Amino acid sequence: MFRKSIKKMAPYLPGEQPRPGQRLIKLNTNENPYPPSPRVSRAIAKAIMGSALRLHPAPRADEFVDSAARLYSIPRSMILAGTGSDELLAMLFRATLGSGDTVAYAVPTYSLYDTLALVQEARILHFPIGTDFELPLDALADARANLTIVCSPNSPSGTLVSRRKLAALAKRLGSRLLVIDEAYVDFADENALSLVRRHRNVVVLRTLSKSYSLAGMRLGLCFAHPKIIEQLGKVKDSYNLSRLAIAAGAAALDDNNWMLRNVEQIKRTRAAATRRLLKMGFAVPPSSANFVLARMPGRDLGPVAAGLRKGDVLVRHFRTWPDAIRISIGTPAEMAALFEVLAPLAAALMASRSNGRARS
Ligand code: PMP
Repeated sequence: MFRKSIKKMAPYLPGEQPRPGQRLIKLNTNENPYPPSPRVSRAIAKAIMGSALRLHPAPRADEFVDSAARLYSIPRSMILAGTGSDELLAMLFRATLGSGDTVAYAVPTYSLYDTLALVQEARILHFPIGTDFELPLDALADARANLTIVCSPNSPSGTLVSRRKLAALAKRLGSRLLVIDEAYVDFADENALSLVRRHRNVVVLRTLSKSYSLAGMRLGLCFAHPKIIEQLGKVKDSYNLSRLAIAAGAAALDDNNWMLRNVEQIKRTRAAATRRLLKMGFAVPPSSANFVLARMPGRDLGPVAAGLRKGDVLVRHFRTWPDAIRISIGTPAEMAALFEVLAPLAAALMASRSNGRARS
C-alpha cells in the first residue's frame, strides 16, 4: 500500500502538547510565553465576518505577503507564504530532491529535515557540530550537495552563524541551493536576510511561530530570488493559507513593535536563566534563540527531563544529544517554577558526579 521508504522511516516526533485543561509549565516547543499583538484577534474577527469564509483565500496570501514586503523592504516577487516554515521546508525538499539526490546539514539540528529527506528518498549527509558549537562550514561546502541547509540560530544549540560566514558558504556553493532556516533569528543580534538580494542560490526561511507568538496560526515566510519563488510555487498547495491566517499574519507584521518588545523581555529572561544554569553547574552555549541548551557533558539528562515532567515542567530531551536538555524561555514566573523543580535534580546530579570522581 505504501512505498518501502515510507514504511521503513520513523515518524517525526513533535514535543508533548498538553491536553486542554492540563496545567503544565510548557518549556518544550519554543513557543512565545506572551500573547500576539491585539491587532491579530481584531483582524481575525474581521476576516470571519459575514460570509467571507465562503470564498477561497488568495492563493499567494497577498495581504500577508504585502505586509512582509513593506516590513523587510523586499519585492513581493521574492516572497512566498507558507503554513508555518515547516510547509515551506516541505516545498523546498519536494521541489529540489529526487531519489538519490543529496541534502547536507550539520547535526544535531531540527530533525524534521531528516523526515523530509526520507520522504524524498534523498541521500542525507550529516556533518557533526564540534564541541565548540562551530558549524562545519568547510565540510558543508565541500559536500556539494543538491541542497544545503543551515539552521541559524541552530536548534537545539541556540548558536548563531554570522552573516559573513553564510555569505562565504553561499559563494562556495555556486549554483547549488543554500537554505538558511532563520526560525529563531528575531532573538539574535544579526540575520542573513540581505543575502537573498546578493546570492541567487540563497533561500531564507522565517516563521511567525516564535517571535510573533503565532505558533497556533501556522505562518511562515520564504525569501529568495524570483526564479526560485516561481519554481516553489509549482509544488505549493493552491490555497495553502486560510483567510484567517492571512489576516492574522498581516496584522502581526504591521505591529512589529509588539513583537520587538516581547523579544527584548525574552532576551532579558534568557540572560538571567543562563546565569542561573551556569551557577548550577550546567554548560550553556551562548543562545541567540528563545531557548537555551543546558548540558552536563557525558551525563544522560533523560532522568532530569523525567524529573521535571513529574514536577509538571515540560522541557525537551533529545536522543541525539542525551547529555543536554533544551529549555524554552518562558515568563520570569515560569522560569522561577522551573528552577524550583530543577535545583534539587541538578544538585543530586552534581553530587553523584563528584562522588564518581572521588571514586575513580
Ligand atoms: N525551523 C526550526 C529550526 C524550528 O525549530 C521550527 C519549529 N519547530 C520550524 C522551522 C518550523 O516552525 P513553523 O512550522 O511553526 O513555522
